[in-house]
Amino acid sequence: MTYCKECGHKLGFLEHTADGLCNGCRARLAQEQAEKAHAAAIAPYTGAELPVITVTDAIVKKGETAYYRTATVLKEIKTVNLGYSGASHGVSIPLPIKVGGFPVRYRVGQSRGHIVKHDELLETSRGDLIVSNQRLFLNPFAGHKPLSVPLSKIASFHVYENGLEVWQDGKERPDLFVLDATGSEIFGLCLDRLLRA
Ligand SMILES: [Zn+2]
Repeated sequence: MTYCKECGHKLGFLEHTADGLCNGCRARLAQEQAEKAHAAAIAPYTGAELPVITVTDAIVKKGETAYYRTATVLKEIKTVNLGYSGASHGVSIPLPIKVGGFPVRYRVGQSRGHIVKHDELLETSRGDLIVSNQRLFLNPFAGHKPLSVPLSKIASFHVYENGLEVWQDGKERPDLFVLDATGSEIFGLCLDRLLRA
């Protein structure tokens, strides 16, 4: 007979595993460990000074100090052309104009229809996202585009559990960086500190 070393519960037929834990305890311990790792990663970013990291694989500008980096995927909203729709061979379309009380009908001859467009969130780059006292910088993996967002150009940002959304002055659409919950929170803490300074 085998018992869980955490709760003493008798292990079932499918629970005879090398770690000696029941399924419930294993899930609970994994969750606790993940929470501890998250809290430990975040703690340095809640102190009086942001921790400084050394960046050797990206171009660091004069007077630039980096605080955090992690792998990310950049996504941008792009308008995608889906082609033509509604091609017709001469139909009459009522227009919202009335002449003498009767709706005007406009005859469309051999119309090629209209272009259907649609906004999509597309992956546009991959690399390491770095935050410094000057900018947010996407140091791209080989074959991907770099992106540099000066802190002075950030109009607003939003932190999500799975990423960071950054709006730049004069840019109509945001840059979306896919991150894990820990990365998102740390970028949020850094930007909050840096943009308020
Ligand atoms: Zn247990």
